[in-house]
Amino acid sequence: MAIERTFSMIKPDATARNLTGAITKMFEDAGLRVVASKRVWMSRRQAEGFYAVHKERPFFDELCEFMSSGPTVVQVLEGENAIAKNREIMGATNPADAAEGTIRKLYANSIGENSVHGSDAPETAAEEIRYWFSDVELVG
Ligand code: ATP
Ligand code: MG
Repeated sequence: MAIERTFSMIKPDATARNLTGAITKMFEDAGLRVVASKRVWMSRRQAEGFYAVHKERPFFDELCEFMSSGPTVVQVLEGENAIAKNREIMGATNPADAAEGTIRKLYANSIGENSVHGSDAPETAAEEIRYWFSDVELVG
């Protein structure tokens, strides 16, 4: 298995409940390394740009409103099979369907306010990392 990088966000519902450390610890305990991290309060336009792939979905407005409602922690996680591993640690989109011990099972409020985001493929990981970080911010 290759060493990969993936993009992760700790969403506003989680930063509001002071869960940045608890969630980051779950990534680190699973063997992922935080190679870049910053706290951002994204604008509505930044949220719309980031989630452009979902712009035809019925929840797009609600999603962009929520993501710009408070601070988010954007991170790059590195490790063996990082993209799939991160999705496994996050759990299913809807916390009602998420497996025991996953971040969303433990912490998500709802399908919309679901505490974390993680890239779903190598191409989206590269795009999403580029959306939030410049090369000099990826410090290993
Ligand atoms: P993410 O992309 O945030 O890691 P995901 O890949 O599990 O989550 P997507 O289908 O890409 O899920 O949806 C993106 C985000 O949109 C979800 O994480 C959630 O916050 C929101 N969302 C998805 N489905 C709904 C819904 N039915 N109602 C409200 N919000 C939703
Ligand atoms: Mg997604």
